[in-house]
Amino acid sequence: MFIDLTPFIPTSLKEEGGQGDRLPNNLKGISLTNELKFIVDQNVGKLARWLRMMGYDTVFFDGRDDAHLVAIALAESRLILTRDTQIMQRGVITSGRLKAVLINSDEPEAQIRQVIDTLNLDCRFRPFATCLECNQPLEERGQEEVKGRVPPYVFQTQSQYMECPACHRIYWRGTHWAAMTRTLDKFG
Ligand SMILES: [Zn+2]
Repeated sequence: MFIDLTPFIPTSLKEEGGQGDRLPNNLKGISLTNELKFIVDQNVGKLARWLRMMGYDTVFFDGRDDAHLVAIALAESRLILTRDTQIMQRGVITSGRLKAVLINSDEPEAQIRQVIDTLNLDCRFRPFATCLECNQPLEERGQEEVKGRVPPYVFQTQSQYMECPACHRIYWRGTHWAAMTRTLDKFG
């Protein structure tokens, strides 16, 4: 069976501010709010960091069993992002009960662009708020609180920090973050 991904414009969404211009049929009726949550299949794993970077709650699925992925998505109301056409053929998805986007490209930047365009995501939804590694909400830390835990040159030049309460990584607005933000700006 082939899943029809022909673009269509649902009137209700159009009236609510122009969202969903390129929404595939199986996403019909989705609530395109900023509170979308995702589960990213391992075949498009790089999307997880990008979505967390924007502030979207995103789980990375590293199992092999499609049924397990679908079960998590259903239990946690997550939208599936995948390259796997077989998942897209499951009844739970074709019926629209579970939302999913079939990613077209192998190239990460094209992948995130497709997700942003299809779902009309806000690239600057909640930047600097989610751990890129484990999807936990970050907590603010003052300069003194990170003393000895970040490189000296960082400590001297940065005053604002965030810490992940789960993995205890410290984040600051360094060069890597700036590079990702510039790329997101291109999309937004
Ligand atoms: Zn973490």
